[in-house]
Amino acid sequence: MIPDELVKKVLDKVDHAALLKLTTELVKINSVWDPAAGTSEQEAAEHVARWAEARGFSVQMDQVAAGRPNVIVTWDAGPGRRKLMFEGHTDVVTPGDLEAWHYNPFGAEIKEGRMYGRGTNDTKGNLAAMLVAMDAVKQSGVPLAGSIVGGVLCDEEDLMLGVHDFIERGHADDVTGAIICEPQDGLICTSQKGAVRAGYSIYGRMSHGAMPLSGLNTAPALAELITGLHRLEQDAVRQLGKDRHLGWPSFTPTVIQAPSGGAAQLNVMPGESRVLVDVRTIPGQNHDHIRKDLTDLTTEVEDKVNKDYEAYDRQLNLHRKHDIRVDVEFLTDRPCTKTAQDDPVVGAASWATRKVLNAEPVYAGVPGATDGTFLWALKDIPIVTMGAGDRQVPHQVDEWVDLNQLKETADTYALAALHYLYPVVA
Ligand SMILES: [Zn+2]
Repeated sequence: MIPDELVKKVLDKVDHAALLKLTTELVKINSVWDPAAGTSEQEAAEHVARWAEARGFSVQMDQVAAGRPNVIVTWDAGPGRRKLMFEGHTDVVTPGDLEAWHYNPFGAEIKEGRMYGRGTNDTKGNLAAMLVAMDAVKQSGVPLAGSIVGGVLCDEEDLMLGVHDFIERGHADDVTGAIICEPQDGLICTSQKGAVRAGYSIYGRMSHGAMPLSGLNTAPALAELITGLHRLEQDAVRQLGKDRHLGWPSFTPTVIQAPSGGAAQLNVMPGESRVLVDVRTIPGQNHDHIRKDLTDLTTEVEDKVNKDYEAYDRQLNLHRKHDIRVDVEFLTDRPCTKTAQDDPVVGAASWATRKVLNAEPVYAGVPGATDGTFLWALKDIPIVTMGAGDRQVPHQVDEWVDLNQLKETADTYALAALHYLYPVVA
């Protein structure tokens, strides 16, 4: 049991004015990674570094790539094995078509309790909340055991270079639990979907649309491939069912191109076509098996289509070479993650949520990958993903965050740290 007076001591130090100010300042810095426009995470990272230094944290800047630093903010509470990581990213996605916005995407305008702008929701508000929470715990004077590290990372939205660099430099080595600060609308997410993404290329022979028998159309292979992917999805759905937090597994052909390059013309039968497939996985699916199934599909489609062409050509008394070929190339492989419900980091997040919201926590899963995926997969770090912000709003126009929920999030992060590092928690 943590005495109520200690809870109060920490909550009293959560500076909601500083939270609002820091969120505003971060949103006003355009940190879209866009070398052509000259914007990157650099300025936002420097701002965080100055903020944390002024509050007495030890701060390290790691240059991950030109103009793209990570900021590592640490505080040693006292001797102890546990090290809690808060993770938040400084990059934001492009605002897209500015005409579609009703607000300045880098204006941090406030209206009726919401702040609008790119990154308010994903995830500068939560980044500010984690820093303010770390400061509150530090200022509270409550004796704690262990340490806290804030990983303020670059490039979460694209290749996740920041988290890989963080791991390569050894910062994650002694982390025992991590809170991934992303917009989950107050839910506690203990699992997240994995992804296997692949590109298929189908090779036939190009010809005039009026003389299709002088070439070899890839279209039947395209059809077989899409049918095959749907069958793999049905098998997975049947075998695994619906995950309570993550829903159904899926094998989705997202891009279907014929021809795979150049201009498409009505009277030209393409010699090459392409399919991209986005597979999203749930616990229980083995990615090696999925890659094998996706690879086996290439020979299966080749055999079926070439045999069909042979039979057809016998009927037409034709002598074509039946050499439809299908190749697959793997583009992404991210595991799905699942943290045990009885892990101390889940316990800390749940306890803090109860204290702040005065309600039972609601558990859920994250549909996409985050930096947490790699902390979990490469370093075995138990992770929970939680933070303020509607889950549908990231990357949309008129992105916003509810400021009350953001304050509650800072309170929750602070109490989660208190619970995780409190020396006598059973
Ligand atoms: Zn994010």
